[in-house]
Amino acid sequence: MKYCTECGAPNDDQSRYCDRCGKDLDEMQKKAEVLRMVPKRESDKYSGLAIAAFIVSLVGLIVFAIICGPISIIFSIVAIVEIRQKKRKGFGMAVAGLVIGVIDIISYFVLMDMFM
Ligand SMILES: [Zn+2]
Repeated sequence: MKYCTECGAPNDDQSRYCDRCGKDLDEMQKKAEVLRMVPKRESDKYSGLAIAAFIVSLVGLIVFAIICGPISIIFSIVAIVEIRQKKRKGFGMAVAGLVIGVIDIISYFVLMDMFM
């Protein structure tokens, strides 16, 4: 049993044209195969780690800079490696997380200096 991609009607495996709408089923199957051959574009996916790194680094600007800073730096580095290997999106976000993570740590020590 194969289904017509045009109208969804079930058709015999042997039938060449759709019983309901007359669409060429063989042609459609060929198209479907071509689509299946195109690898699923992993590169369209965002790196979750890059997003996490970015968010954690932003949190660090407000609270827990000394905790969030190093975490976001680690997340960013792992994210950058992941993005390069798996060709994910989010490189800019990972770099931003890294930079802001460093700023978190610097700001922590600057504040410590100011208050002590
Ligand atoms: Zn049809």
